[in-house]
Amino acid sequence: MELQALTRIWKLSPPASALLLAFLQFRREPRGRLAHLARLEPRDLPAALDELRSRGLVQPGAGRDRRLGLVDIETFERLARRAAGRAGADPGRLELELEVVREVREAVGRPSITVISPRERARGDGEPPRPVAEYLRALFPYLDLRLGTRCNFNCRYCLLGHEKRSTRDLAELEADLRHGRRLGLECLSLTGGEPSLHPDLLRVIRRARALGYRRVILVTNASLLASGRNLDRLLDAGVDAVGFSFDAADPVVSRRLWRRDAYAQVVEGIRRVMEHDEIVVGSISVLTRLNLQLLPGLVRRLAELARGRRGLYLPAIDFVMPEENAWTHRRALVPRLREAAPHLEAALGEARRLDLPLVFRGVPACVMPAHREWDMERYMSIFEVIDLGDRSRQHRAGLDFLRYKPPGCAMCAHRRGCLGVYRAYANLYGTRELRPVPAPRPEEQPCAS
Ligand code: SF4
Repeated sequence: MELQALTRIWKLSPPASALLLAFLQFRREPRGRLAHLARLEPRDLPAALDELRSRGLVQPGAGRDRRLGLVDIETFERLARRAAGRAGADPGRLELELEVVREVREAVGRPSITVISPRERARGDGEPPRPVAEYLRALFPYLDLRLGTRCNFNCRYCLLGHEKRSTRDLAELEADLRHGRRLGLECLSLTGGEPSLHPDLLRVIRRARALGYRRVILVTNASLLASGRNLDRLLDAGVDAVGFSFDAADPVVSRRLWRRDAYAQVVEGIRRVMEHDEIVVGSISVLTRLNLQLLPGLVRRLAELARGRRGLYLPAIDFVMPEENAWTHRRALVPRLREAAPHLEAALGEARRLDLPLVFRGVPACVMPAHREWDMERYMSIFEVIDLGDRSRQHRAGLDFLRYKPPGCAMCAHRRGCLGVYRAYANLYGTRELRPVPAPRPEEQPCAS
């Protein structure tokens, strides 16, 4: 749900809106961290902070605590209702948004798990292409279980950039596994960091199988799958799907993106994975300014690695999410959507020529109207399950805060199947590239049969 009423009732500028949404998601932070947390240019921070302070929304901690945070939730709601009354905002809409805010505030600092589900599709969306439908059926919905944040790479686009590197212990992981089963989930995705570095990985996989997970997916940079019997041991323990990362068919560009010289090991790891027709395979290539020109070559290399394979394989290209490391390196890494679109279209064209079922994520329909059926975001959703235990609730906070649709999207023909742009992208470049597609007039729509 887009928190539009809340950012409009105070007539906040876009930087102040971004800062308010960031404040909703943490308790208190030092001033020096605020621009990074809100994905703002540091020069925009002072004015944004002044706007929120002048509305009474931000306060420092008690005593000598100079960190800044949101006012308590009761005060926040009182101020919101008063501002909404003055602005003549729809009270029903405001109450819905305040409910989301309450949930998010209650969840700050609590454990949560993420569930990735098939998305409810709008009427008239059409069926996904056959390999996409098979992939969704085979893997979704799944519990996204992070084993820790340790990694042997340090990718420029990593979303864990500033998190302390650690490994979660087995008891904690088992509790999440049991919880996932109580939620009725049968598929499990093991992520990190790099999950193959976890000392108890084989135990986690066996435990998941014993608990009744029918599908265990390993999401990996593939560098360790090239060594010895690593892959065989994982498959023996119960892994039956692998998702690997591969960004460029070029060792130099790969090293610049991963900050690790591991191209040969990764290619060998992928080659070994592809040999196993019995497992489901997926791949993610992150589209950045550094590999943009190389996308058609990347597709050819992936097709070559998958040649002769009879098992399911679904490759994806993801527009870089300008968060964490990618936000730090935003000038070098994040292209404009309209700069990226022709290259992505060339890659999709090459994939169709080679009969490779390439999908993509993170580029809205108005920027790239061709190849709509291959837009994976039309088919998947992200939920955060908070308050583990009996009081579990599903909440889409992840999407509410990560993505942004400007007001014009409400008139767009694609509004239901489109998630808009990354919020951080909107902070960086604005939303002028988005051009709502007029919805067909009722008399132009086909008659219901
Ligand atoms: S105008 Fe908005 S809803 Fe329409 S395709 Fe673009 S981003 Fe999506």
